[in-house]
Amino acid sequence: MFNALVVEKDEESGLASASVKQLSLDALPEGEVTVAVEYSTVNYKDGLCMSPKGGGLVRSYPHIPGIDYAGTVEQSSDDRYKPGDKVVLTGWRVGEAHWGGYSQKANARADWLVPLPNGLDTRQAMAVGTAGFTAMLAVMALEDHGMQPGHGPVLVTGAAGGVGSVATAILAHLGYEVAAVTGRPETANYLKSLGATSIVPRDELNETIKRPLESENWAGCVDAVGGAMLARVLGQMKYGASVAAVGLAGGAALPATVIPFLLRGVSLLGIDSVMQPYDNRVRAWQRIATDLPMDKLEAMVQPATLSDLPKLGADILQGQVKGRVVIDVNA
Ligand code: NDP
Repeated sequence: MFNALVVEKDEESGLASASVKQLSLDALPEGEVTVAVEYSTVNYKDGLCMSPKGGGLVRSYPHIPGIDYAGTVEQSSDDRYKPGDKVVLTGWRVGEAHWGGYSQKANARADWLVPLPNGLDTRQAMAVGTAGFTAMLAVMALEDHGMQPGHGPVLVTGAAGGVGSVATAILAHLGYEVAAVTGRPETANYLKSLGATSIVPRDELNETIKRPLESENWAGCVDAVGGAMLARVLGQMKYGASVAAVGLAGGAALPATVIPFLLRGVSLLGIDSVMQPYDNRVRAWQRIATDLPMDKLEAMVQPATLSDLPKLGADILQGQVKGRVVIDVNA
């Protein structure tokens, strides 16, 4: 028997709710690799998957959410993994369409797993999680498009959130000036401790304006917010600079013009973590192990347990989680 956070739907109201339950191993869906999960985490999508309507992501109930997990292989029918291997999983619609990591045991396809890189343990991997992995993918995409330290400040939106916190710490470690956009002024000291050089109040960027171009401020941008803020930021990018579009915490609509693309050669780079090919996953996890200072990562972490998850899910949907939550599924 093992413990898991199970989301069940009430047939009368049609609404789902989550609680910790004991399950037997034969309840798990089939998979090539059985993982003894050690840690999971809370991303925005996890909040959606625990919400009463499943955020349009959960396919069927009962469901075990948790889009990320890290742990130790218990058994494997695939040659790439053997008992005792440390592995990390993000994406592939695990925790949405498939049972996820809010569980002490999980069955996975071998293709979904990545061996834990040297220099990271399973707890640190979940302090990173999909949010941090995606932040690294965004930085790599910006670098691949010519971003370099010394060209000017790099903007990070939704900075006190998971993606934003990790992006801030990585960029600062790589030698960039980081301008951190936040709607929570009380997080200014936290963001500076991660390496932000300046704080930009959310209100300064959240408003749509008519002018398609403003002064050229930013040498790059990791954008977790989308919506009106992304539209505004496009008009403030330096000539030839790129924005990595990661999230939609502020909205999915993009009320922008094409003028920044045409007159300033600005690029908008889409970042997807879910279907990311294996080789680039390995590259990103290795970069995380070298370019994300572990003391900064630790400063982002809020520890929690399976039974804390329903509240944390509601909090992250309200933009109220600071940094990264690490769930010890065995606590
Ligand atoms: P968090 O909730 O931890 O962070 C989002 C942050 O955005 C908040 O902390 C807040 O930062 C800011 N924010 C929230 N609401 C608004 C608003 N209405 N207007 C402006 N800013 C707002 O979530 P994550 O960091 O985990 O994820 C961020 C986004 O990235 C989500 O939309 C998520 O779905 C997406 N995502 C996409 C991935 C991909 O593969 N493309 C992978 C992972 C995440 P502050 O308080 O500092 O203002």
